[in-house]
Amino acid sequence: MDNRSIAQSIAQLARMSAGDGHVCGLTPAQWNTLRFFARANRFSRTVSAFAEFHATTRGTASQTVKGLVSEGYLTRSPSDLDGRSVRFDLTDKGRSALDHDPLDALSEAIGKLAPDVRNQLETSVKRLTEEVARTRGKPSFGSCRFCCHLACALRKSGGEPSYACDLLEQPLAANDLDDLCVNFETAPSNATARSRRGGGPS
Ligand code: SF4
Repeated sequence: MDNRSIAQSIAQLARMSAGDGHVCGLTPAQWNTLRFFARANRFSRTVSAFAEFHATTRGTASQTVKGLVSEGYLTRSPSDLDGRSVRFDLTDKGRSALDHDPLDALSEAIGKLAPDVRNQLETSVKRLTEEVARTRGKPSFGSCRFCCHLACALRKSGGEPSYACDLLEQPLAANDLDDLCVNFETAPSNATARSRRGGGPS
């Protein structure tokens, strides 16, 4: 298969996996929005970050988010970073809806791959996402574990690792490290990232 055919197959897979029209009363755009706010960290759960992630205009993103707030899937609250920004969080209704995500068919198919094939797929998808984002001048999004801004220090008592973001000057919890972030920048290498984390979680 040539490169263009592979690209078309990836696009077709993404379309097919999204389901046909409304699923459980939600449009494909609303599903994308719920998935984003379920995976994004607290600094990225904003309309502008979602617009960047979904490659759409801020106005369109704002309308979709507003609709989900009025239907009880999202709540709005002031941002941690500044009083002017607004952060959106999933409600219990939003989290329950994701139990019926049409994308689960693709998740299950990925789960059937052999572990080494699955890991290669993960690496390839990350590299393709970063390359296309770079070409388009867009943020690639990624998680703290692979970000050059992650700082890690061992607390003196107990040796439990504590984490912080150098860029945003904010503390991070261990369960924040896999969330998506609009400010993500790739660490020079995974080895460097591990070293910066002081041998933290893999
Ligand atoms: S360390 Fe990187 S990914 Fe994590 S919050 Fe900071 S900028 Fe975002």
